[in-house]
This record gives sequence, C-alpha cells and structure tokens, in this order.
Amino acid sequence: MSTIKTRDAWEAMAASLSINGQAFINGQYCDAVSGETFASISPLDGKVLAQVASCDQADVDLAVQVARKSFESGVWRDAAPTRRKKVLLRFAELILEHKEELALLETLDMGKPINHSLKGDVPATARAMSWTAEAIDKVYDELAPTPANQIGMVTREPIGVVGAIVPWNFPLIMASWKLAPALATGNSVILKPSEKSPLTAIRLAALAKEAGIPDGVFNVLPGYGHTAGKALALHMDVDCLVFTGSTGIAKQLMIYAGESNMKRVWLEAGGKSPNIVFADAPDLDRAAAEAASAIAYNQGEVCTAGTRLLVEDSIKDVFVAKVVEALKKWQPGHPLDPKTTCGAIVDKAQLERIIHYIEAGKNEGADLATGGHQVMQETGGCFVQPTVFNNVHNKMTIAAEEIFGPVLSVIPFTSVEEAIAIANDSIYGLAAGVWTADINKAHKTAKALRAGSVWINHYDGGDMTAPFGGFKQSGNGRDKSLHAFDKYTELKATWIELY
Ligand code: NAD
Repeated sequence: MSTIKTRDAWEAMAASLSINGQAFINGQYCDAVSGETFASISPLDGKVLAQVASCDQADVDLAVQVARKSFESGVWRDAAPTRRKKVLLRFAELILEHKEELALLETLDMGKPINHSLKGDVPATARAMSWTAEAIDKVYDELAPTPANQIGMVTREPIGVVGAIVPWNFPLIMASWKLAPALATGNSVILKPSEKSPLTAIRLAALAKEAGIPDGVFNVLPGYGHTAGKALALHMDVDCLVFTGSTGIAKQLMIYAGESNMKRVWLEAGGKSPNIVFADAPDLDRAAAEAASAIAYNQGEVCTAGTRLLVEDSIKDVFVAKVVEALKKWQPGHPLDPKTTCGAIVDKAQLERIIHYIEAGKNEGADLATGGHQVMQETGGCFVQPTVFNNVHNKMTIAAEEIFGPVLSVIPFTSVEEAIAIANDSIYGLAAGVWTADINKAHKTAKALRAGSVWINHYDGGDMTAPFGGFKQSGNGRDKSLHAFDKYTELKATWIELY
C-alpha cells in the first residue's frame, strides 16, 4: 500500500533530486552546439532549478539529420507493430515506475499541485502510451472495391520526421498525446518542450531509450523562446509538425510551413469555453462544484477551462453564490503540500498577464464576486486567487480573450437560443458544457455548439478513446483515439492489375 508523502518528504526529495537540463539527440544527452543555456526557474519560490540547453538552428539541423537517418534505416519504421507495441508498453511502465520523480519535476517546474501531478498527469501520460501501444497492432489497412482483375490497396505509411512543439500547462500529457501516436505509427520524432517547463520532457528521453526506442527515433530539443521551434517549423526536412499551444503561434506555424516545404501542420490551440447552466440542471450543487473546478483546476491554465459560465438569469444569483462557495476549496497553497488544490502560476509573466486581465474586468464594469488578488508573495512564488466576475458581457475583454488563469466570467442569458448565440460568439471552438435535465434541450444545444468536445451534465469528461481537438481557431486535427493516427501517416493507394 502506498503512503501519502508529506510536504516535508517531497521537499526532502526535491533537495536531493538531480536535474538534467541537456538536449537529447541520437540517444545521448548533450549540450546545445552553442554551449548556451537558460535558467529553468521554479514558480514555487523563484529559485533556479537547472540550466537548460538553449537549442537553436544548429541543434535542430543535427536532430533532424539523425531523425531522418533513423527513419530511413527502417530500424523503427519497419519494425512489426507488435514490436513497437511492446516497446511503448515498456515505456508506459517505466513512466509509472518513475512516477514520483516525474510528478515532482512537473510540480517544481510548472507549479501544479503535487497530488495532481502524481495522480493525474503522470498516470495519464502512461495511459496515453499504453492505450496507443495496445491499439497499434489492431488497425488494419483497406482494400478498395474493385473488379476481379484488380486489387486496390489503401495503406497507411509513417510520414517521416515529426516535429512536436508542446506548451507548458500539461508538459507530460501534451507531449504524450503527440509522442504516442507518432512513435506507434513508426515515425522519428523531435520533441520541443516549452521553455517554461522543459524538465520532464528531458527526463522522458532516457526512459524512452531504456524502453528500447532506438537512437535517433526520439530526440528532445529544449530551447528558449521561439528559436528552436521556429527552426523546426521552417526546416525543409521535417515532414510533419504537430503543435499544442496558443492560437497566435499556431497561425505562425502555418505560415512557416507555407514558406518552407509544405510540411503537414496539425494544431491544438486556444479556447474560451462556454459552460452553460440552464435553470433545470439536474443538480445545481454539482454544477457549481464543477464550474469551480473547471476554472481553478491547474490554476485555470487549461485550454478547455470553463472560462465563460453562461447561467440562466432566473438562477444566476443563487448559482453564483454556490460557485463562490465551492471555490473556497480551491484557494492557492504550496504545490508540494499534498492537500493543495490550486498551485502556482507557471511564471511571473503569466501571473502579470492574469493580473492585467483582472484589472481589465474591473475597468470594463464587471462585478468582482470573489478573488482578484495575487497572494503568498512571501514565498517568492507566483500565486493568484481564483477570481469570479459576475454580470459580464460577452464582448468584454475578459470574456473574449483567453486569459489562461483562474478568472471566471459569469454571463447571464434568458433563452436557449441566446445561450447558443453567446456560446458560439467566440473565435475559439474547443469545448463546451451543458447542464439541463431536459434531454431534448441537451441534445439540441450540444448539436448547435461549434466545439470539438461537448460535455452534458458534467465538465471535462472523456478518455483516450475519444478524439480531442477544436473547431474554428482552436485548431485542426485531433489528438487521442484512433483518429490521432491520421496525423502521423500518409495514405497510399497502390493499384494492381492482374493478368
Ligand atoms: P505558446 O503558443 O506560447 O507556446 C507553445 C510552444 O510553442 C512552446 O513550446 C513555445 O516555445 C513554442 N513557440 C513559441 N513561439 C514559437 C515560434 N515562433 N515558432 C515555433 N514554436 C514557437 O503557448 P503556451 O503559452 O506554451 O501554452 C498555452 C496555450 O496552449 C494556450 O493558448 C492554450 O489554450 C493552449 N493549449 C491548447 C491545448 C489544446 O489541446 N487545444 C492544450 C493545452 C494548451
């Protein structure tokens, strides 16, 4: 039986943790070609965790070269699916065997509560690997319907060298949603983690090697700012770019692809998700509790955060009071305390951005119902209260722009049609929630919502079996499920004439 580690025990483990900040190319850890590094700073206390390799064009050139070589050699590409499955299942096991170390690194680097890293992020990362591994030897190619003297084969082939650029909010999970299908389908991969949280991606590389992924097939290039990511996106020998991050950078990647080799570009981008609560919701207490977690989990740094809470006018005041009450369970605490539910914001820049939006809410006339302040300054870390604005109009800055912090906008509505119109009045279309006991209203509303995921009478459901991605400027393509394989394979039609 596993015992729950105390904050002191986690702090002791952190003090003895050896942290590697190097790049990983061709099966070896290495410094950046330039020798340059940048500091990885913990948002828990502002202290430097490690110096991290600052990769640039030279490192990207090297990594692409070895990735290409490994791909062309066939060492992984041509391995039987059962072989790739076995290696990826071992990779998943190793992730779980190192769950405390990975969870600690994730929390120290990114600020999320240790219990969430340990019980959420690390197992979900292993699950992405194992689910995908289990699937890869069960997908079949196709035969076209042909006359008797012909055979039309429709086969999927790995696309080649895949560049995967990921964000800082779920560093391990976002990486695994790309790595698992990319590797399972036989590609060679270069992973570019965010400069704000590169440490677990770097650690994963050694586990991948231990699991049996051949040298050159999985490379990790940390880099500061846009340097390494841009070089990867513009590279003429990268076949496919998969990205999770902001809509602004996603658009830039499409331009880079057009300016270079027309590499395939698959984008998971931002969100401003509506969570619609009708007066006939089956359980208003549960709806309020989930509205609170939908904005406070991961400090609101979630692409699908339920940032726009659309509440039917007749229950608005009662419901907002319940949400404010529910948020008492989500007050910031030390991320290494196992009881903490809301940890640190990833860095000072993101904290300032959140404070800027809170000020915008006040200045534009929204009513502050709770929160609104930075807290725990004495720690040297980055903490902010979960914040609720009531009586927000959908055109206000806080309702229109992605904040990526625990700031909730409550927007009243009076009819189903109005709720749908407000919900869809956004450049984004990632996710939405609908709360009603009326099955017709639930289905009609879900159908009318322009979003890649819709949750009825709960928020943020789903697992590896369901595709995840966005409509509109929330992106294209899908992560998770068998649909994810589409991004990492080219379809080939081979037509055979029989004599
Ligand atoms: P970001 O767009 O700033 O950065 C994402 C990644 O792109 C990082 O690795 C960064 O270093 C890299 N990058 C930055 N500039 C680049 C350039 N010019 N060329 C190539 N790469 C570049 O996003 P972020 O701040 O790390 O993450 C937050 C964003 O991610 C939010 O918008 C959030 O909604 C989104 N997100 C989306 C999903 C989803 O599945 N749709 C999931 C998680 C996060």
